Amino acid sequence: MQHFASDNYAGICPEALAALLAANDGHVRSYGDDEWTLQAADRLRELFETDCDVYFVFNGTAANSLALAALCQSYHSVICHHLAHVETDECGAPEFFSNGAKLLAVGGEQGKLTPAAIVEAVSRRSDIHHPKPKVVTLTQATEVGTVYRPDELRALADAAHERGLRVHMDGARFANAVAGLGLSPAEMTWRAGVDVLCFGGTKMGLPVGEAVVFFDRRLAEDFSYRCKQAGQLASKMRFLSAPWLGILENGTWLRHAAHANAMARRLAAGVAEVAGLPALFPVDANGVFVRLPGRIEEGLRERGWLFYNFIGAGGARFMCGWDTAPETVDRLVGDVRELARES
Ligand SMILES: *Cc1c(COP(=O)(O)O)cnc(C)c1O
Repeated sequence: MQHFASDNYAGICPEALAALLAANDGHVRSYGDDEWTLQAADRLRELFETDCDVYFVFNGTAANSLALAALCQSYHSVICHHLAHVETDECGAPEFFSNGAKLLAVGGEQGKLTPAAIVEAVSRRSDIHHPKPKVVTLTQATEVGTVYRPDELRALADAAHERGLRVHMDGARFANAVAGLGLSPAEMTWRAGVDVLCFGGTKMGLPVGEAVVFFDRRLAEDFSYRCKQAGQLASKMRFLSAPWLGILENGTWLRHAAHANAMARRLAAGVAEVAGLPALFPVDANGVFVRLPGRIEEGLRERGWLFYNFIGAGGARFMCGWDTAPETVDRLVGDVRELARES
């Protein structure tokens, strides 16, 4: 049975699995000094069309926390959206790994930060008693399934850089954002002013792992020590990196992401049609948020569907993944139709 709770409910996509198995061949150097890791980093440099510095870590919490820690000192602060994963779902890891840097959460429509909110957060205080803003972190695609366009990113990055702040992107669903806009990864990151990207692998079909991509290599100074100290340096690194090779080939990662996005649009259109319930946010990526009447939500759960309702601005969240089948979406929509009729 497929579910809509999270895109990390899905298994490993065949391309990543094949690459993982292919890497299981003989003895090779450990700790990242192997062919697969070097090649995966090269493929990412080609993908981003720039000489970026790349690190592979186990999960998104570590990627975000260690990247943010690299961008600031313990007495600094990090501006984020109040729905940001770093704020709501990382158990204080960004604060922990930065030795106390404070997250400053600000508002913004549709899960997005605005230049005005950044300016307000930076200007709020300038005295020595308040942590000094040093980083802006934004999530792409956002926690409510919307996507920043390059002009929006550029405006945010300009507002940040003009005030001496660095720009970090939590790209747990970067693939879905790229597929949604149909633009190049470069246009959506460094060309728009992003300094560091945490490129999510897990949710796009890898067994495990994310890539931390530094577009400004100076910011990556000693980053490998940070990873090691945090328990994020895999000794058998090839099994983290090889799956990336599998999905970066032939645009597989984008194809999977585009499929997930299409399934989300199908789901949103279906639920709107059969129950008159519109999505709460534009379906720019692979997530759909709907405010379901209690009896429909309970009815879906009774029928065995798993989905979250604690994320974002309320409502039920339905996430689609690389393997979400159209039939699964149609079955869910059919159940919503029946439950809406019964009531
Ligand atoms: C899933 C996710 C992460 C990473 O979470 P981990 O469970 O630590 O891998 C980071 N940011 C966002 C927005 C996410 O949805």
